Amino acid sequence: MRDKIVAGNWKMNNDLAQTEDLLGNLKNQWQEKEGVRVIVAPPFTNLYHAFDSLRDWPIDVAAQNMNENKSGAFTGEISAQMLTSIGVKTVILGHSERRAIYKETDELLAKKVDAALENEMEVIFCVGEELSDRKTERHFDLVKAQLEKGLFHLSAKNWDKVVIAYEPVWAIGTGETASPEQAQEMHAFIRKTIAGKYGQELAGKVAILYGGSVKPDNAQEIFAKEDVDGGLIGGASLKAADFLAIVNAF
Ligand code: PGA
Repeated sequence: MRDKIVAGNWKMNNDLAQTEDLLGNLKNQWQEKEGVRVIVAPPFTNLYHAFDSLRDWPIDVAAQNMNENKSGAFTGEISAQMLTSIGVKTVILGHSERRAIYKETDELLAKKVDAALENEMEVIFCVGEELSDRKTERHFDLVKAQLEKGLFHLSAKNWDKVVIAYEPVWAIGTGETASPEQAQEMHAFIRKTIAGKYGQELAGKVAILYGGSVKPDNAQEIFAKEDVDGGLIGGASLKAADFLAIVNAF
């Protein structure tokens, strides 16, 4: 069966003291949950602290972004090798905030994916449409294009390191979630699209997470859908009790 994953995307939140607090609360309130992988993605400055603090805990640490180059004159950037050197083996790529605010293109994201995989990192690759795309019924085409341009150059064997996160932009941080049916419809479409290129067997193994205003009170009905394998959680990952309630919603 597919991995079930709940990943917390902290975005640009939590300084060192707040990170220590949140990690402490996660540990204090932790309940073993069989079959669900838990990931937290703090900002770069707290990645090593989080990795170190969670060494003996079943919580993985991910970065929220990285540069596509190996090293060199890229002021302000962080490479895959730097991340793996501190123990971080997972990276979120293509988040809609990176695409919209920092103008990351599909072509750039394909390079970032390659750099991550060359360093044996796992990629949580985000796709998702804007409200205008949904209103004009272009959402399936758009998500398909994001998958094709960002990931379909990969060989089949690379896919065991790829997780997809479907995050409709209109549902991120807005309090508005896609209905469980809308999520399932797009997740099934994503799986079908992957199957069309790589075959049913491979597509059946890819974890597809839903993201966008997932909260303790809506997680269960979203996670119950057949093709939803977990969540990428923003706002609700900043409170240990909420995040763990979402983990326990499976
Ligand atoms: P949200 O963010 O849960 O606050 O909507 C999700 C995300 O952007 O990953």
